[in-house]
Amino acid sequence: MKRANAKRVERWTCPGCGLDAVVPVIIGLPIDDDFEREARGEIILAGCIVFGDEPDRPVQCVECGWYGERLRGGKIREVIRSTDFDGE
Ligand SMILES: [Zn+2]
Repeated sequence: MKRANAKRVERWTCPGCGLDAVVPVIIGLPIDDDFEREARGEIILAGCIVFGDEPDRPVQCVECGWYGERLRGGKIREVIRSTDFDGE
């Protein structure tokens, strides 16, 4: 009988490339297991780099780089990140 401590692999279909390759983005300090999960392509580690306009629950496609956020109810939607650092 499986216990709930095994982390569920969450993936979404990418609106950009159509592959089931959208995974959660982990912001902040990763725990040990996170590195293994990233190696398996289950998550993306973003480290502590925060742009200031990150969604609460970011997700990203490991195939094409499509970026979005996870909404309540398990859906995802695209998020346009501002990479314009010299603008106001
Ligand atoms: Zn994609």
